[in-house]
Amino acid sequence: MEGCIVTSPSSPQSVVVMSPCAACRVLRRRCVQKCVLAPYFPPNDPIKFTTAHRVFGASNIIKFLQELPEEQRADAVSSMVYEANARLRDPVYGCAGAICQLQKQVNELQQQLAQAQAQILNMHCQNANLNMALFYMDMSQSSLPSSSNDHSFDNFFDELGFLCDQSLST
Ligand SMILES: [Zn+2]
Repeated sequence: MEGCIVTSPSSPQSVVVMSPCAACRVLRRRCVQKCVLAPYFPPNDPIKFTTAHRVFGASNIIKFLQELPEEQRADAVSSMVYEANARLRDPVYGCAGAICQLQKQVNELQQQLAQAQAQILNMHCQNANLNMALFYMDMSQSSLPSSSNDHSFDNFFDELGFLCDQSLST
C-alpha cells in the first residue's frame, strides 16, 4: 500500500483514492507508506507545501521533522508554514515584522485606553462635584429666608465653577 488515502466528499459513497501527498507530488517522487511529510501535507492542500518548500527547502523540512518527536511535528509544520508565509510577504523581517507592527498597535491602544480612563475619572469627579453643589444649594435654599435666594444662587455658581476647575486641573 502506497500514498495517502483521500475520501472524496463530492461523491455519495466515500470513494477511496490513492494519491501521493502534496510534498511528494511537488517533489515528483514516490510517496512511500512511511512518508514523513504525508501526515502534514495532504494532497488537497498543495500550496501549504510549496510555500514551506520555497522558504525552507524540502530537505530541511524533512530534517527538522525527523529530529522532532511525532507529537510535535504537526505544530512544527504549522509554524514553518506560518513563518514561510510571513517571510514571502516580508522577506526582510518575516514574522518579526508582523510582531513589531502588532506591538506598536498594542502600545497605541494602551495609550488610548489610558486617555479614556483619565476622561472617565475626570467626569466622575465633575459629577461628584455637581452633586455636592446641588446638595449645598438645597441646604442653603431650605435654611435661608426667601429674600436671599438670589444671593445663594450666586454662591452656588461660584462654588460650582471652583469645584469644576479643581477637578479639571487634577
Ligand atoms: Zn509523501
